[in-house]
Amino acid sequence: MAAQETVEHKYVYDFAEGNKDLKDLLGGKGANLAEMTNLGLPVPPGFTITTEACKAYLTTGREPDGLAAQIEAHLESLEREMGRRLGDPQDPLLVSVRSGAKFSMPGMMETVLNVGLNDRSVVGLSAQAGGNDRFAWDSYRRLIQMFGKTVCEVPGEEFEHALDEAKRAKGTQNDLDLDADDLRGLVDAYKKIFAKHTGREFPQEPREQLDLAIRAVFESWNAERAVVYRRQERIPADLGTAVNVVAMVFGNLGADSGTGVAFTRDPGSGAQGIYGDYLANAQGEDVVAGIRNTVPLQELEQIDKKSYDELLDYMARLEEHYKDLCDIEFTIERGKLWMLQTRVGKRTAAAAFVIAGQLVDEGLIDLDEALHRVNGAQLAQLMFPRFRLDHEFQPVAKGIGASPGAASGKVVFTSARAVELAAEGESVILVRRETNPDDLNGMIAAKGILTSRGGKTSHAAVVARGMGKTCVSGADELDVNVPAKKFIVAGQTVTEGDIVSIDGTTGKVYLGEVPVMPSEVVQYFEGSLDPEHIDNPLVRAVHRIMTHADAKRRLLVRTNADTGADAARARRFGAEGIGLCRTEHMFLGDRRELVERLILASTGEEREAALGALLPLQREDFIEIFREMDGLPVTVRLIDPPLHEFLPPLEQLAVNVAVAQERGEDVAKEEALLAAVRRMHEENPMLGLRGVRLGLVIPGLFAMQVRAIAEAAVEVTRSGGTACPEIMVPLVGAVQELETVRAEAEKIIAEVVGDSGVEVLIGTMIEVPRAALTAGQIAEAAQFFSFGTNDLTQMGWGFSRDDVEGAFFWRYLELGIFGISPFESIDREGVGRLVRIAAEEGRAARPGLKLGVCGEHGGDPDSVHFFHEVGLDYVSCSPFRVPVARLEAGRAAITTTGSDSR
Ligand code: ADP
Ligand code: MG
Ligand code: MG
Repeated sequence: MAAQETVEHKYVYDFAEGNKDLKDLLGGKGANLAEMTNLGLPVPPGFTITTEACKAYLTTGREPDGLAAQIEAHLESLEREMGRRLGDPQDPLLVSVRSGAKFSMPGMMETVLNVGLNDRSVVGLSAQAGGNDRFAWDSYRRLIQMFGKTVCEVPGEEFEHALDEAKRAKGTQNDLDLDADDLRGLVDAYKKIFAKHTGREFPQEPREQLDLAIRAVFESWNAERAVVYRRQERIPADLGTAVNVVAMVFGNLGADSGTGVAFTRDPGSGAQGIYGDYLANAQGEDVVAGIRNTVPLQELEQIDKKSYDELLDYMARLEEHYKDLCDIEFTIERGKLWMLQTRVGKRTAAAAFVIAGQLVDEGLIDLDEALHRVNGAQLAQLMFPRFRLDHEFQPVAKGIGASPGAASGKVVFTSARAVELAAEGESVILVRRETNPDDLNGMIAAKGILTSRGGKTSHAAVVARGMGKTCVSGADELDVNVPAKKFIVAGQTVTEGDIVSIDGTTGKVYLGEVPVMPSEVVQYFEGSLDPEHIDNPLVRAVHRIMTHADAKRRLLVRTNADTGADAARARRFGAEGIGLCRTEHMFLGDRRELVERLILASTGEEREAALGALLPLQREDFIEIFREMDGLPVTVRLIDPPLHEFLPPLEQLAVNVAVAQERGEDVAKEEALLAAVRRMHEENPMLGLRGVRLGLVIPGLFAMQVRAIAEAAVEVTRSGGTACPEIMVPLVGAVQELETVRAEAEKIIAEVVGDSGVEVLIGTMIEVPRAALTAGQIAEAAQFFSFGTNDLTQMGWGFSRDDVEGAFFWRYLELGIFGISPFESIDREGVGRLVRIAAEEGRAARPGLKLGVCGEHGGDPDSVHFFHEVGLDYVSCSPFRVPVARLEAGRAAITTTGSDSR
């Protein structure tokens, strides 16, 4: 047998041994309890069992060797410190057993208070409390209730029910009216409930209570709701929870005792000042459980001035120490204040910006830190219009904010009805229990989607986010009955055509139409709010932090814009050029006819005539865009989609031809089009005749576009502007393709540009995996690369985006095959690797090669960090995402690793 491990692993830490940076090991609660202890704040003594012990327990199904002895040793020293023994019949030490993972998971895991009470120590506890029988029996009934529910899975309602029953028998609503005898009776009732459900008596042995409670906390890590929550919040599944064993202090000893929660600033708006609630003569959860009315924290000043002042002093110290908004749990035991928990508090997106700004003003943090503390997702949230909520509107349900935005409309229950009403110009909200791929058209037609089931990775949520559509999922208070076309919520029946409003950020659902107000942050970006002259604290904070992000970032931010109007808007949002100007829209509308002529041309002259007619139209388009982007680079992508996309659909043509023939009309043109559509049909258009392939197959097509671009640039420059065109060739997979296009283009450019001083760059998109893998060769012929990460993802994964997102991504997300759609956030290991290879090999072949990315990844916070890391020069995204990309590019420049803030 191998030698026994002699160095024992340390699984238990006294509060005095830990600190706030040990969250991985001690969990957030334990690490912060240790921190407060070491700051000298009055924390009841205790110890923390590490997440490692939990992980060991969860993998092997039993406590790791040495754990029991270490708990014993720490318990003994706790008993010595307190001068009491756990469950001692005369003078019992009681403890709480509290879960606490690295990331807070509100309401997900378990805590048991008053461990150590039994039929004998309850008497001792009463005696120690000066004969306060009521208090002792209240504590005991709470233990049986929490222990039963948490440790032994006794249904909580049964205890609630018995409590209600006791109150009713007493003729009261208030648990404080129950006296010692009532509570003694309740303990008996609880014990019966316990025995009925567990088949055993409530354990009287204090150490057994403790061990079972610890084990239950370990196991709560894998409780279903915790698993679901982690998946939603993208918290890793393998962290485990720590367990804190804390000497009990009592807020339920009488009017001079109580318990409360507090925030050092308003977590909703960020406003300065203290916020909180206090409840006299209460224990633990009572404050948040809403069983009695709490009073605002400020009133504690009248009730117990000494504790109040002390609390304020600690709150100030904690803020100063953590340099951030803290939230706090405290208990007052007979006029003595105890601190039971603190952590850096959660806050709304608006509060995040406002608080970061304030802390800079207060000199607690610098601007780098302020920038680090906010993020692009929060900024994006602040850019959506919001509901204007006054008292008339109360939510009737709250689900999961699955895709942000504020949407109101008529309720419909089927995809078909959504399409019908939307076609009549109505705003509709599609309401389903859950959506499936058949609902896709309805989801596209609806303003918003509301489901009663499913979380952030449900079909509805994934598809809605992909479409940028407002969605609330999993609003389980809704009883949805699709066949009957109605749902019931809060006792009200809502039928088809009734109006509802949904908030995809908060998950709240309202009946009726809630008015919407524009985002002040967008008004600021658009230049209609001057941050120096208004005292909207949010706008000022956003302005300040954005200015800093701009100063810090290395990545430039461009926009994807196809029209002058888009370009102008994006420029106001801070775009530093256009990274992708698609030209296909320039072939739509009344220009379709010219495209048809081009496709149907049977001779060179006919084709040239069609192209010749398109040329001036395209030139005008480019002139407008170059003017709006005066002085900034504009990357124009030559036509990319297959040409048959510009022709009418096959069925429609076939019907037209048949009808016209029937009427004896001249159908020559329709027949020719029909033949062309049949000829050009492709099984896999995304992989067919498109991009550079079109340019190589259809003579004069790219040449016309190149000429239009060059002529527009010359014209703008001649009239005093500065045009900086960059011509981008799509879908290149081999350098030879690019060389061929480039040779022709350069000839035209030289001829058009002459001595006008205009410079036109020629580069390519890297969007075919082969291009990424042969980037060294391609760079010889390209003056820039722009990564088309949408196609690179499609082709890298072999996913047809339009098919897969609706069809099965929800399942992939559920299975954890990826944590987020690779179309939403770049897949670093796979597609990202292609980007990295191409960037490195491209630059090795051509030092200084300009590198950018176009496609929605350019505005995705995580992806922006990745593009910063691989050394791209710019990202390009839709106008609305430009501020988000600026902010994240700034954050990427000041942080080297991803942040832990959640
Ligand atoms: P959660 O993580 O759900 O907030 P906690 O472990 O903080 O759970 O405990 C639940 C409640 O019990 C809180 O109100 C907490 O302040 C209170 N509590 C926990 N430990 C003690 C203790 N030793 N003495 C008094 N109250 C406690
Ligand atoms: Mg707590
Ligand atoms: Mg593409």
